[in-house]
Amino acid sequence: MDASDELRSLEATGIYRLAGSPAAFVDPVRLLGESYRRFRLVPSAYYSRSFGPSRQGGEGTAPSPDRKKRKRKRQPKPRELNAVERIAEARHQEARPLLIRAHNSLLETKDLLEFLPGMIKGDECLPNVETSSENNFVELGASWRAPFYEMTICFQKPLGQVKAGTCNVQKRSSPLFNRIVSVEENDEAEGEFQSRLYILPKGSCFMMTDFTHVRDLIPDNPNIGYNLIVIDPPWENGCVRQKEAYPTLPNRNLLYLPVQELAHPAGALLVLWITNREKLRRFVEEELLPSWGVKDPTEFYWLKVKSDGSLIGDLDLFHHRPYECLLLGYINVNREAESGSKFKVLQGSQVIMSVPGAHSRKPPLQKILSEYIPGPKPPRCIELFARELGSGWTSWGNEPLHFQDSMYFSKK
Ligand code: SAM
Repeated sequence: MDASDELRSLEATGIYRLAGSPAAFVDPVRLLGESYRRFRLVPSAYYSRSFGPSRQGGEGTAPSPDRKKRKRKRQPKPRELNAVERIAEARHQEARPLLIRAHNSLLETKDLLEFLPGMIKGDECLPNVETSSENNFVELGASWRAPFYEMTICFQKPLGQVKAGTCNVQKRSSPLFNRIVSVEENDEAEGEFQSRLYILPKGSCFMMTDFTHVRDLIPDNPNIGYNLIVIDPPWENGCVRQKEAYPTLPNRNLLYLPVQELAHPAGALLVLWITNREKLRRFVEEELLPSWGVKDPTEFYWLKVKSDGSLIGDLDLFHHRPYECLLLGYINVNREAESGSKFKVLQGSQVIMSVPGAHSRKPPLQKILSEYIPGPKPPRCIELFARELGSGWTSWGNEPLHFQDSMYFSKK
């Protein structure tokens, strides 16, 4: 495939595979858009944080000697790293060559670089994302009224069922909190709640509860379960606390997530987003993943770039890396026994690059991981601590409708 074929692939599928490194650039707006027929995600609402071009114009992975000098003057002398920090630094040094190779492949891909500014701007005007008064589901769900809140779900009747002169919209009500809500209709639905509209993709399912109700997700039938389990926990972390972005959970609470009960008996791929904190990494590798039955995880990286392809920050800045890590591993799958089976067994690290959206919003993973997911096709997918919905997904957390607010969408 030559470069322009890959650009066409990005436009059609949301994924651009880069030559010469195990890396891909993704456009979350296109990937998420596949769940909708009548609506589209507004690019400027997704890419709402300003990751425009760097003022120096295209910051490469290796800064020029000039810039290095200027930086050195401004920065205080770095203090010595302690023992734990040295381990984290060694981990970073191990990942660095792969990250640089991936980023350089992006910088060498001229057609993609030219495409990026238009991709994040789109052709619609920016909705008032910052100032509109969104519902705060975390607060609403914690109130004594939560069991009484209902959402009115409106969907269009299939054309064949609409009698001449009658309304083509059907409505039903559903409790909003502490219940599984499924959109089984053949089209996306619109949910009305407290004067706001939420766009609900067809074939999506959500449960809006606190952690204490998470076991309600376990399927009654032990023979059905999920083949892809994505978990992005609210790790305790200074940055989240400072920004008051969302409530966090003590890390050890995650030992109680019923991951094994959610996994499909024919196998599941588990993806866990983690932060770059070494103490957390140790807890995850030594306690959390073993308790879920995940062995030998593979590490992927999400490298965050601006619209001119430069990194959002210095690759080597200790406390603010421009990348996040995700650990991937199998449940109910014996890697050796499955090496000849219908899915590709994960081998080696990969880099996913994208321009970030809102704080902590992760790129969608199903398509890029599709060949590595065991079990029946299409896979059954679940996201724990989700803030958005998708066709074929069950989304659970205390605010899975957060990014479904109609202000992030426009009508096609
Ligand atoms: N993956 C999401 C995305 O891409 O937008 C971000 C998830 S964010 C890291 C963690 C989420 O967990 C937040 O929505 C937060 O409100 C939610 N959360 C925090 N405490 C929770 C609890 N006790 N029960 C359920 N969800 C919780």
